[in-house]
Amino acid sequence: MKINVSSELKSAGRTSGRHFEEEWGPVDLGGHKLVFTMPLSIDISYVFDGEGFNTKGVLNSELLMNCTKCNSEFKQPFSVEFSERFIKATEEEAEELECYAYSGEELDLDRPVLDLIVLNAPIYGLCRLDCKGLCPECGCDLNITKCGCSAKPVNEKLAPLTELARMLKDEEEV
Ligand SMILES: [Zn+2]
Ligand SMILES: [Zn+2]
Repeated sequence: MKINVSSELKSAGRTSGRHFEEEWGPVDLGGHKLVFTMPLSIDISYVFDGEGFNTKGVLNSELLMNCTKCNSEFKQPFSVEFSERFIKATEEEAEELECYAYSGEELDLDRPVLDLIVLNAPIYGLCRLDCKGLCPECGCDLNITKCGCSAKPVNEKLAPLTELARMLKDEEEV
């Protein structure tokens, strides 16, 4: 994603805008993969102030997530607003000033967009607010099925009484 700014460089103070639709591959976040289900949609406005470019805009897309509780896949909208400054400098100089570097007559958005994703994308999420999760015993998805496991602890509590009843019955029989 590159913006040609040759005309803006000659007319400081004039705001321009662009819209991008960009396919974006999976982003690896230390072992966790962020997967987009649709292209990134980016609206950006930019203005040259004589020394650098001030940009602002919004990025929209949708992420494929795995529910933290039941592990099922679900889609979650991803939207983030941004404002970044580009200066004519080396990458290192720009980084020190918390800006992005540009050279020639082009703003390259790939790096800032990747940073926005890495810093803002959610890693954890629930398929729905009241997700019941998986049964800790049999592993079935409690949103879909009902297993008998949840009744077990109740039975275990009653177990001593059942035993007592059996012993009393045995005594009677003797
Ligand atoms: Zn879930
Ligand atoms: Zn179960």
